Amino acid sequence: MNDTDSIERLKEVQASVKRSAADYERNPGSVTLIAVSKTFPAEEIEPVLAAGQRVFGENYVQETKAKWLSLRERYPDVELHLIGPLQSNKAKEAVELFDVIQSLDRPSLAEALAKEIAKQGKTPRLFVQVNTGDEPQKGGVSPAEVDAFLEACRTKYGLTIEGLMCIPPAEDPPSPHFALLATIAKRNGLKNLSMGMSADFDAAIQLGATYVRVGSAIFGTRPKTD
Ligand SMILES: *Cc1c(COP(=O)(O)O)cnc(C)c1O
Repeated sequence: MNDTDSIERLKEVQASVKRSAADYERNPGSVTLIAVSKTFPAEEIEPVLAAGQRVFGENYVQETKAKWLSLRERYPDVELHLIGPLQSNKAKEAVELFDVIQSLDRPSLAEALAKEIAKQGKTPRLFVQVNTGDEPQKGGVSPAEVDAFLEACRTKYGLTIEGLMCIPPAEDPPSPHFALLATIAKRNGLKNLSMGMSADFDAAIQLGATYVRVGSAIFGTRPKTD
């Protein structure tokens, strides 16, 4: 995929996000597009930055460091979201690198992040990931446990949680998962919902997404895994 393609696709996705917001009578400014650049090298991200996109998602700490330290020097107003699983021993680097961490999903990680936040005096915005399909291989807090986990984040770890994130099971229709995430957010007084990817961001916007995470529809098909 060449640069012209990715810029064109970015514009199409931006327009679709706006259109979906309008269709569902949402304020277009209430939905933020996260361009998911995992696996794509800095050279392929740069044209998308040059075209004006500033909010990006990455899945891996090491890859983010390798690509974004220099990109960020040129585009200091970039906002980076960690959307992949985070090991507690990478909490330090994650707090250093990311503006938003969306994959908080267990007490040990909450503890590690709280410690780093205090140490670094830098506070990334935090989302709790919910495993809406209760899939054993997937990260995220079970819906049955999420209220208690959110409470522990606040009271035990002193963390401010700003929203929820989910990745519906690949084989399910996504809408019931999006609706469940919205319900959990509402009863916990959380405003932000990170849900919807290339194939289903329209449905996510219908059900209240404030962040959609779109990779392949902008950057093209990723080589193999994930
Ligand atoms: C890779 C990834 C995306 C983007 O997926 P696409 O289908 O390429 O849009 C979104 N969210 C998460 C958590 C991801 O890992």
